[in-house]
Amino acid sequence: MSQDLEALLCDERARLDSITTLEDLEEWWRTTLGRKGSVQLLTRQLGTLEAADRPAFGRQINEIKKVLKEAFDAKKEAVRLDVIAAKVSREAIDVTLPGRRPAKGGLHPSTRILREMYRIFGDMGFQIYRSPEVVTDQQNFEWLNMPPEHPARDMQDTFYTTEEGILLRTHTSPGQIAAMREYHPQPIRIIVPGMCYRSEQITARSEIQFNQIEGLAVGHGIRFSDLKGTLTEFAKRLFGEERKTRFRASYFPFTEPSAEMDVSCFQCDATGCQLCKYSGWLEILGCGMVHPIVLRHGGYDPDEFSGFAWGLGPERIAMMKWGITDIRSFWSDDLRFLTQF
Ligand SMILES: [Zn+2]
Repeated sequence: MSQDLEALLCDERARLDSITTLEDLEEWWRTTLGRKGSVQLLTRQLGTLEAADRPAFGRQINEIKKVLKEAFDAKKEAVRLDVIAAKVSREAIDVTLPGRRPAKGGLHPSTRILREMYRIFGDMGFQIYRSPEVVTDQQNFEWLNMPPEHPARDMQDTFYTTEEGILLRTHTSPGQIAAMREYHPQPIRIIVPGMCYRSEQITARSEIQFNQIEGLAVGHGIRFSDLKGTLTEFAKRLFGEERKTRFRASYFPFTEPSAEMDVSCFQCDATGCQLCKYSGWLEILGCGMVHPIVLRHGGYDPDEFSGFAWGLGPERIAMMKWGITDIRSFWSDDLRFLTQF
């Protein structure tokens, strides 16, 4: 090999050895073995040589190409591994650092109070009966002794669907009727929980959606004393064994007689506080003996069967229990509120 070729080979190898990046490698290839690279340019010299010298010179160029190509491939692999190693060490994960704590969810306060009540009534022998939130006018009003033009309807304005006579239930009572029609003439003990809707001005005290838990017991010889015993026991299990209850006469279209049940204030132990407005009592539910007309709509003969029913608002009770002052907090999705539970 001529001295010139030796020198070229030596230079290019040295240049290749000093390369550390893939970009520089590409540049090296372009300027050495590329179409206009230094080795390729050597072939132009072939024309200037004696014909006899050309084959030997050609072989030497090919030899140089081969050697440099092999060196290039080896270098390329080495650089590639170096790049990976550098990236790995740059982005290394320190496994000794403490991890980020995942945000833990909790049960919504409505769910909590509902479950507490399910457990209490479940222990007392009541089954949960689920029923639809979209009902007919007949299911929501008429079968519950509220015919069209009944004044009690004014207190329960609701949301109507575009289909005539189909509406969002204003109370869970349609579920009571549905259960009676499904199970009569067997005796029943159920609670009917779920979401109800009313078209109302939204304020700190009233919402357009809220849960209700209604309960119903129908059978032979059920009396008002059964109602008092059941609901007083419920109040004690929810608010504490020492709680007292009282019943005040009231009116509901679907019960007769009807009553409101108060529980002695658990916050001040009935001595008077802001929660009970210094009366010592908290109003927690409405109740009564099932109206004979309602029993008949449910498929029971009121001469043979009797029953009691009640309805309460879990959110209102949760507000008393946990000192929540604004009912809008339940559905406003504010984590500052929700994470307190
Ligand atoms: Zn009080």
